[in-house]
Amino acid sequence: MSDQPTSRKLWELSQQILPGGVNSPVRAFRAVGGQPFFVQQAHGSRIEDVDGRSFIDYVMSWGPMILGHAYPPVLKKIAETLKNGTSFGIPNPLELRLARMVCDLVPSIEMVRMVNSGTEATMSAIRLARALTGRSKVIKCIGCYHGHVDSLLVQAGSGAATLGTPDSAGIPPSFARETIPVQYNDLRAVEQAFSDFPREIAAIIIEPVVGNAGVILPQPGYLEALRAITHSHGALLIFDEVMTGFRLAPGGAQERFAVTPDLTCLGKIIGGGLPVGALGGPSELMAQLAPSGPVYQAGTLSGNPLAMAAGIATLEALQQPGLYQRLENATQTLVQGITEAAQQHGIPVCPRQIGSMFSIFFTDRQVVDFPSAATSDTARFQRYFHFMLDHGIYFAPSPYEAGFLSLAHTDEDLQTTIKAAQAFFASEAAAHQGS
Ligand SMILES: *Cc1c(COP(=O)(O)O)cnc(C)c1O
Repeated sequence: MSDQPTSRKLWELSQQILPGGVNSPVRAFRAVGGQPFFVQQAHGSRIEDVDGRSFIDYVMSWGPMILGHAYPPVLKKIAETLKNGTSFGIPNPLELRLARMVCDLVPSIEMVRMVNSGTEATMSAIRLARALTGRSKVIKCIGCYHGHVDSLLVQAGSGAATLGTPDSAGIPPSFARETIPVQYNDLRAVEQAFSDFPREIAAIIIEPVVGNAGVILPQPGYLEALRAITHSHGALLIFDEVMTGFRLAPGGAQERFAVTPDLTCLGKIIGGGLPVGALGGPSELMAQLAPSGPVYQAGTLSGNPLAMAAGIATLEALQQPGLYQRLENATQTLVQGITEAAQQHGIPVCPRQIGSMFSIFFTDRQVVDFPSAATSDTARFQRYFHFMLDHGIYFAPSPYEAGFLSLAHTDEDLQTTIKAAQAFFASEAAAHQGS
């Protein structure tokens, strides 16, 4: 019997049978160094590894677990549904229930197509936008991630950015040429694209609040202007709300900013921790999807009963009055605490927070787009990540990822985190003086 930690043994094995040891790249900790831990279980705000170490979790499965891990009403609904079978491949009433809730909550959505991931939602949204406009090109923002869709994997933030491969191998240059990258918050670049490619641009796809380059907020009037520009050029505005949907408000960023997109992509929270994505919009546009329209889109497991059940229970629980305000207040407490700790020790930070999403950029610049986000001190971030992990706090293993709070995070969790951050910044300041 070896006494090395089980996570370490599993990591050795997993590198032999999973590419890079993982099923999704950022999990491999390449941006921060070291080895990922293997999870045994997660409850509330905590995630526990196979060696029995427990962490306060600010990743929350990259967003879905807004109620906390293993939230009892969600588990109960899944268990009840499970007794009746796991997949039917023919309509089931739960699909309708969840679709109805999505239409009621999200302002721009009248009709919805369930899919199995955020990637499927954005891929299908682009296809639908191209069909509706008869145009090919799509504008996307540098640093925004819309899943691993070929034509959207161009300057795509987080995983791609931290791996140092802004584009992926295996994407034909002709596909990438259909994508026009612009800087987030840069309206002139959007105007320029429309004048460079008149009547060729099908849509702008955007994270209304960026979460995949760290959190970056839209400048006042930016989203409204995108709405007006796309409208005047006969192009569609697609909000990728896979992260912001049901997180920034019950109706997502479009409710919070009162800007109505043509198409909306959903994922993460809508599945309550099971694999669900969705694409929605006005009936007139959505009816172009097969079988009522010519735009083909399908899925063997789409509308899966267990996934629908988890989504329904999650969206139901999110109706609790005052819940979003509580989440926002807690997130502000945390971000303020960390920011003040940094400032006390003369460490420059740029905090960004909206609702229960946040980032602390280690830079003295104002972060408004990907280049300013990329001025973050990545070496300091690596030290921060490992210091916090050693103190039982798990932040995303990349400087270009958002942090998330859940309903389960307690004030004690927040204070523990702020204390650890104070200790980290003190050690950074001391190291700086010594050098
Ligand atoms: C996570 C994410 C996606 C991709 O969703 P998957 O379910 O991982 O395919 C797309 N867009 C945004 C904004 C995301 O945050």
